[in-house]
Amino acid sequence: MAGKDSDWFAESLYPSVRFAFRAERVLHHEDTGHFELALIENAAFGKVLMLDGITQVTTGDEFIYHEMMSHVPILAHGAAKRVLIIGGGDCGLAEEVLKHRSVEGLTQVEIDASVVEFSRTHFGDFNAPVFDDDRFDLVIADGADYVATTEDRFDVAIVDSTDPVGPGAVLFTAAFYAGLHRVLNPGGVAVTQNGVPFFQKDELVGSMRDLGRSFALSAAYVAAIPTYVGGHMAMGFATDDAGKADVPLETLKARFAEAGLSTRYYTPAVHRAAFALPRFIEEAVEEG
Ligand code: SAM
Repeated sequence: MAGKDSDWFAESLYPSVRFAFRAERVLHHEDTGHFELALIENAAFGKVLMLDGITQVTTGDEFIYHEMMSHVPILAHGAAKRVLIIGGGDCGLAEEVLKHRSVEGLTQVEIDASVVEFSRTHFGDFNAPVFDDDRFDLVIADGADYVATTEDRFDVAIVDSTDPVGPGAVLFTAAFYAGLHRVLNPGGVAVTQNGVPFFQKDELVGSMRDLGRSFALSAAYVAAIPTYVGGHMAMGFATDDAGKADVPLETLKARFAEAGLSTRYYTPAVHRAAFALPRFIEEAVEEG
């Protein structure tokens, strides 16, 4: 795999910086046809899934990314019944979404069935409930094709994509964001993963610009996730209802209590604080 040196597995995401995991064990390594998939075990992060040499998920800190990608849009919306996930093959995001009893249906559109099957086998410690939940509907398709053609409509759409290389590149285009807008009910909320602005500023600028072409409001919020090195990770937030990006703390607290969620990173206060951006990230959002 890219960046493999003896028992060290280095990420191949950035040309000038390398972050490497020491593999206590290599649990699996294959070419899926879409991606080169590797699963290793690391003392600090637990199980680490890499696609094409880029870290996707670790059992150690998946809760941060998945809680912030799910609970922020669902609790900001306040009455989400139908949720769409694009990508999300490890199904950790689906698990968090399905914790909301108010969600009546979750459609996940993933391009690579083998990532889901693989994750079902190896990441049962966090995703097992998903596969027994009859609200969960898995569609194997390209997410961009899906949002351009489906007749289904959603209250919340979450883009849990790979980085904008390979099959994931299409999920960072203006045409895809127009499709996301098309599949949302009025007042719907979309969120996107937008990488680490310290290293991937252009990705954030481009997404903010292109989301802004389809939605009345495009904003960003942040979380610190050890796996995605370089400081804050940015998440895009788009809606036609500006109030959903600025829900009062008391309202969020009431919705959180009503949902009965037990979380390790998300709190209503963290939700609001996440939209307060460090200046260099705010500048990237404004540039978009
Ligand atoms: N949390 C991760 C990160 O930020 O690095 C992303 C994890 S998730 C495993 C990404 C998923 O997006 C993968 O399972 C991949 O197969 C899927 N994917 C990539 N391109 C896609 C596309 N065009 N349509 C649907 N799913 C796609």
